[in-house]
Amino acid sequence: MTPVPMPKQTAAVLDVDKIRADFPILMRQVHDLPLVYLDNAASSQMPQPVIDRWVRYQQNEHANVHRAVHALSEIATREYEAARDKVARFINAREPREIIFTRGTTEGINLVMHGFGRAFIQQGDEIILSALEHHSNIVPWQMLCEEKGARLRIIPMNDAGELLLDEYEKLFNTHTRLVALAHVSNALGTVNPVREMIHAAHRHGVPVLLDGAQAAPHMAVDVQALDCDFYAFSGHKMCGPTGIGVLYGKAEWLEKMQPYQGGGDMILSVTFEKTTYNAIPYKFEAGTPPIAAAITLGAAMDYLSGIGMDAIAQHERALLRYATGQLRQVKGVRLIGTAQEKAAVLSFTLEGIHPHDAGTLLDMEGIAIRAGHHCAQPVMQRFGVPATARASFAFYNTFAEVDALIAGIHKVQKVFA
Ligand SMILES: *Cc1c(COP(=O)(O)O)cnc(C)c1O
Repeated sequence: MTPVPMPKQTAAVLDVDKIRADFPILMRQVHDLPLVYLDNAASSQMPQPVIDRWVRYQQNEHANVHRAVHALSEIATREYEAARDKVARFINAREPREIIFTRGTTEGINLVMHGFGRAFIQQGDEIILSALEHHSNIVPWQMLCEEKGARLRIIPMNDAGELLLDEYEKLFNTHTRLVALAHVSNALGTVNPVREMIHAAHRHGVPVLLDGAQAAPHMAVDVQALDCDFYAFSGHKMCGPTGIGVLYGKAEWLEKMQPYQGGGDMILSVTFEKTTYNAIPYKFEAGTPPIAAAITLGAAMDYLSGIGMDAIAQHERALLRYATGQLRQVKGVRLIGTAQEKAAVLSFTLEGIHPHDAGTLLDMEGIAIRAGHHCAQPVMQRFGVPATARASFAFYNTFAEVDALIAGIHKVQKVFA
């Protein structure tokens, strides 16, 4: 086996050792072995400055927002809104009021399904999705279609996991009301040409929702440059805590949409006869929001910006190239998802070994990967596999960890030989 040389010119874009020192969890052992954490597409880890922000809020600043006049409530409100400003800057939204805090990508998409779908999608209308969507960007639309008598049209993909743009163009007609599309596929790593695809949709007067769960943590996202109408992502995949996510929406759409949930904070006035809704974004944030998690997400964005999203993307690209080269040389490996444009996600199968067994045995080596359908069963069906093993990288992963993965795979194969 000839080893693939390390891409030296790009290996040094980040001081990964220094970065790793920020992540307490990366120091721990699993089964008495150093943790090799390669399940970042499911959830990433939190660095100490972000953890500290959570603790400082709980120790010093906690109160409810937007309600009271007392000092703590004013601090909590200020910090919560400061986090919204940080998110707006992070994705280059025009205004902070275009940023809605949600529980995650899933809730963001459901919000659009309720708020946009209920208002603008009628019987006989069509929604375009792609063949590589996460269940979170399929099931809500199915529910809406069932309710409204609308239907889904699916953009097909080739064997590399790339969407067929000619076929996409053919799906538009006068009934098309929305395109809902992953920016980056969690199961295949494909980076979709979303700018071009949004352009095409807009030529037909159709708005576009991007599922950015796998893009926002790994590349600079500029919602104005993309010109997407909605963009949803999750905090826990980008060094933030669970329970917080973001839905960006163009103000002109958000103004026209119905609230997702009713309750406190989303109203201006309530009588038993009539309720007047609050302005955006509050109209979409019923009840006490996840204040601590939002503020901590703001700290995560500071942390990521401090490293630089372009440097992060470059390091992860180098890891992907190296890992792909190494994995291709392992006999019996089938890579699932070989798009030209890929994020650092490696889905694969091992001949004669179930992905769950591979995952379990790798775990015994301290190596955390995901095995399963990755909430993308249609993708598995497209490639004719029930499941894959998936290694997914973050900026704190190293070339040595790629080597550990490859060594682990060899060990797994020996067990089954
Ligand atoms: C993780 C993920 C989701 C769902 O995110 P939640 O945080 O579970 O709501 C949706 N789409 C993609 C592409 C994902 O990777």
